[in-house]
Amino acid sequence: AGDPVRPRRFLLKLSGEAFAGNGGLGVDPDVVHSMAREIGAVVRDGAQIAVVIGGGNFFRGAELQQRGMDRARSDYMGMLGTVMNCLALQDFLEKEGVPSRVQTAITMGQVAEPYIPLRAVRHLEKGRVVIFGAGMGMPYFSTDTTAAQRALEIHAEALLMGKNGVDGVYDSDPRKNPDAVRYDALDYSEVITRDLKVADSTAITLCRDNSLPILVFELLAEGNIARAVNGEKIGTLVNS
Ligand code: UDP
Repeated sequence: AGDPVRPRRFLLKLSGEAFAGNGGLGVDPDVVHSMAREIGAVVRDGAQIAVVIGGGNFFRGAELQQRGMDRARSDYMGMLGTVMNCLALQDFLEKEGVPSRVQTAITMGQVAEPYIPLRAVRHLEKGRVVIFGAGMGMPYFSTDTTAAQRALEIHAEALLMGKNGVDGVYDSDPRKNPDAVRYDALDYSEVITRDLKVADSTAITLCRDNSLPILVFELLAEGNIARAVNGEKIGTLVNS
């Protein structure tokens, strides 16, 4: 008889910045559409996909704080921004014929379900994409940390960290240093001691402490989401 094949489950973190396209602010429907197409393709192939989207295309709490706003209030604005990204993605998934649900950590019954982990897993088992919005619902956290926490709670096998304009982790900033070298693989401790830009430190330690692998890859290269899901050698893999 053997074990039934366990479907593969991933948490896909999408950069909010990428959603803005070249405009820098707000949502570029063409970008969201292509992302929905790629997610649809891997779901049809049998993968279970949960998504966390950043909010950097709207507001970042830390930036508003520097300009004089209260940190917690500006963080809430940041979280609300992520929900707009979630609704945009849901819309294009629907147009692609891919069923999806948005669950938010701040309840807003008219637009989304509340975050209910067991229900999220049930959606995934039924082939629905689950999009987690509003981060953790708490100021001073990030959507990277949210992605790590949600990945652990739904038992995803890896955190697929889609970046905007960079195809992995480098030893220095490739946009400033033409000799920057990309790592194929790294362990968590190297990321922390060298302060490499994978995710914020709360997210990294959460992954390290629970042995959750992270794949950092370029989101906007066509076909990359499928490559990430299929375990092809792209980007940088962080594990122990
Ligand atoms: N945020 C928060 N708590 C969370 C998740 C997000 O306060 O659990 C706020 C925070 O202000 C952050 C903003 O939402 O700057 C947008 O998220 P993030 O910066 O992670 O987006 P990204 O840079 O990945 O696009």
